[in-house]
Amino acid sequence: MNRGKLYVVGIGPGNRGDMTFRAAEAIRESDVIIGYTLYVQLLENLTQGKKVYSSGMRGEIERCRLAVEEGAKGKTVSLISSGDAGIYGMAGIVLQVMEKKGLPPEVDIIPGVTAASSAASVLGAPLMHDFAVISLSDLLTPRELIEKRLRSAGEGDFVVVLYNPRSHHRKTQIQKARDILLCYRSAETPVGIVRDAGRRGEKKTISTLEKMLECDIHMTTTVIVGNSQSYTRDGYIVTPRGYRL
Ligand code: SAH
Repeated sequence: MNRGKLYVVGIGPGNRGDMTFRAAEAIRESDVIIGYTLYVQLLENLTQGKKVYSSGMRGEIERCRLAVEEGAKGKTVSLISSGDAGIYGMAGIVLQVMEKKGLPPEVDIIPGVTAASSAASVLGAPLMHDFAVISLSDLLTPRELIEKRLRSAGEGDFVVVLYNPRSHHRKTQIQKARDILLCYRSAETPVGIVRDAGRRGEKKTISTLEKMLECDIHMTTTVIVGNSQSYTRDGYIVTPRGYRL
């Protein structure tokens, strides 16, 4: 690249307190900000006086290409991801776009607080033991593979964190995921459901594997299914790690 700078920035769940200093610095330093419209809005006054390109849900590849092109023109660019940029975020696409263009991977990837961490903190301590993160989106991943991973996580007694549990068009996978996990875990297994963690309108619900489908599960929701040892107490989920107290 022609001496521009390309940051791929994980901004955390969407409030300034949960954004790292490094992320805020990169954005301040940038001439150009590129991101999904909602995430750019979450940056509020950090983008003042900058050139901002925002676009809708499916524009990931276009946003990455634009970021690489602006960087190649010598601009300092921040390409924005919510949560962590390398977890179902923009980091991988940027590296692949650069690879395709034959450019060296000169990019600074700035990590952020991912939805699993923000949701877990709202629920108490459900991720104190081994966990598996599975996205239920079948846009880019075959359903059979998603289901195989759910079965493996169920069999391995992992706490399971579900990203992309549901969308406007995709409503059945969450039922399927729950049915698969019910083959390995009791109906009473705690399930934590957090919508808009760390954002305005944050909502936490604690349910069970049996009853979870009665709860409001939305696109910006993370669902955490406990392992065989997880329990609920006083509105929190705890997955014990084995300390003797
Ligand atoms: N890179 C992001 C994940 C993007 S995938 C990260 O590291 O967090 C999008 C999915 O993340 C959503 O469908 C939802 O399951 C989850 N998610 C993102 N932000 C969230 C939030 N504030 N609260 C709850 N879940 C969230």
